[in-house]
Amino acid sequence: MVAVKSAKVPTMECETEHFLMAQRQLDEIAEEMGLDRELHERLRYPKRALIVTVPVRMDDGTVKSFTGYRVHHDVTLGPAKGGIRFHPEVNLGEVSCLAMLMTWKCALMGLPYGGAKGGIRCEPWKLSIGENERLTRRYTSEIINLIGPDKDIPAPDMYTNEQTMAWIMDTYSINVGHTVPSVVTGKPVSIGGSFGRTEATGRGVAYCARRAVSHYGIKGDSPTVVVQGFGNVGSIAAKLLHQAGYKIVGVSDVHGGIYNPKGIDIPRLFAYLSEMGKVEGFTGSTPVSNKDLLELPCDLLIPAALGGQITEENANKLNCKIVVEGANGPTTPEADLMLHERGIIVIPDILANAGGVTVSYFEWVQGMMHLFWSEDEVNQRLEQIMGRACDQVLELATKSKLSVRMAALRIGVSRIAEAKRLRGLYP
Ligand code: NAD
Repeated sequence: MVAVKSAKVPTMECETEHFLMAQRQLDEIAEEMGLDRELHERLRYPKRALIVTVPVRMDDGTVKSFTGYRVHHDVTLGPAKGGIRFHPEVNLGEVSCLAMLMTWKCALMGLPYGGAKGGIRCEPWKLSIGENERLTRRYTSEIINLIGPDKDIPAPDMYTNEQTMAWIMDTYSINVGHTVPSVVTGKPVSIGGSFGRTEATGRGVAYCARRAVSHYGIKGDSPTVVVQGFGNVGSIAAKLLHQAGYKIVGVSDVHGGIYNPKGIDIPRLFAYLSEMGKVEGFTGSTPVSNKDLLELPCDLLIPAALGGQITEENANKLNCKIVVEGANGPTTPEADLMLHERGIIVIPDILANAGGVTVSYFEWVQGMMHLFWSEDEVNQRLEQIMGRACDQVLELATKSKLSVRMAALRIGVSRIAEAKRLRGLYP
């Protein structure tokens, strides 16, 4: 046998850089909280991971194979919950990392769920509607043994939407022989979706921002806000903070940003955006690049576009008091440390953008009960759950001197660890 030069053999195929980052975060908090070694070991890897090949008949008559994934990180507290993304960078490590973060997020919010994530490696923008539908339906049938309202409930994520969920729900229902709306969340309201789901993430971000402003005693009647990404999450957060009397001084989208230190008229910006398709050029504002936007002076910075926006390169140039993470993973671990040292508070994604999964939970509950709530009821319950989680995290961070991210993780991880300890290790 030929001798192979010794290299670290991964314990599991998911151990990409992305996944190891999430695992290191767990290791760090496990050490800090003195987590039982065996419980810690059981939480370091996904419980199960399925890789499937999804053959699709393309519009030109050829057949193309795509790779799909569905990962359950943990199911101690209930069925697994997490989005499905369609993107060329989807891989086992990324999906496993995001599934682990979903475990902590659901536990932190007190939802009876474990963490999951799924995806298909593809370029969704190159697919016709028909190809997208056939890809979604075949993927659903390939992972059908993992999903179900009591097992695993997918939701939309990058480049998937209400329509994707409707196709998954239909494919699942046809296979089991009856209609099962609660197999997915993020469905259109007409087939069992919840009122308030579309606005839920942005609403939760705005809510966390206000709680943080009051907890950290930011002075002044109208704190100033910069929002990167004026899509679903960013625009709703900006709208609600504007309504609450905050001054939105900068916003951006993929085309670039705008700045107005006197405050942007957000309702008029919505009208402008629907006509022009971008925020650039809005009356009374000066153009600013997405890079410079992050460094504008403000009380609150809300990254609500992409991951990896606040890095070692710009963390020292940020000019805000609080970062509220609307996007998933907008701050790299190195930047996170630098911000902590500079005394800039970061409200982490697993808390700040958890409004989406919380209303997804409401959608699932309403579907199981066949009893639907009004939008006001949904929003009230969301504020109750977000409020409780925010208070617990901010109090722990202040008392323990942990960063807000570590405090949030500590609460999430300790809830799972306690449940695992009580349930024991089978057999
Ligand atoms: P979206 O597609 O509605 O909006 C994204 C926005 O970001 C758009 O305005 C787009 O123009 C802008 N954008 C894209 N690339 C950019 C760039 N390079 N620089 C600046 N802006 C850019 O998406 P969304 O649903 O609002 O999601 C935003 C983020 O929030 C994502 O990271 C997503 O994973 C996260 N998130 C969303 C939800 C949800 O319920 N929608 C829940 C949890 C987390």
